[in-house]
Amino acid sequence: VKINKEQKMVRPKSWKDLPCGAIITDIKAVLENKTGTWRSFRPIWDPKKCINCLTCWIYCPDAAIIIKDGKHGGINYDYCKGCGICAEVCPKKVQAITMHKEEK
Ligand code: SF4
Ligand code: SF4
Repeated sequence: VKINKEQKMVRPKSWKDLPCGAIITDIKAVLENKTGTWRSFRPIWDPKKCINCLTCWIYCPDAAIIIKDGKHGGINYDYCKGCGICAEVCPKKVQAITMHKEEK
């Protein structure tokens, strides 16, 4: 939120208008800001390898792991920031999520 010359609160048009360290508490504003554009790496999920332990869902800091009928249902790239935590916590014997450079 910026303060303009008249000292009025101005709703930011995108996350790019926010100052460093800003916290958004308005859930509607959170959903409107599709922060997936920050991503430089993309997690790719392989449903054939996935054992549906949902560890990635627990650890994803952006709630970008989709749950469908109690199972892993894919990745919401509108909000995924490509941090790689999901790939890191996915059991090593399974490796159902791998990280790839976004431009590929
Ligand atoms: S890369 Fe990070 S933000 Fe994206 S789904 Fe995995 S844990 Fe969530
Ligand atoms: S951590 Fe790996 S195996 Fe477990 S639900 Fe996520 S993708 Fe599937």
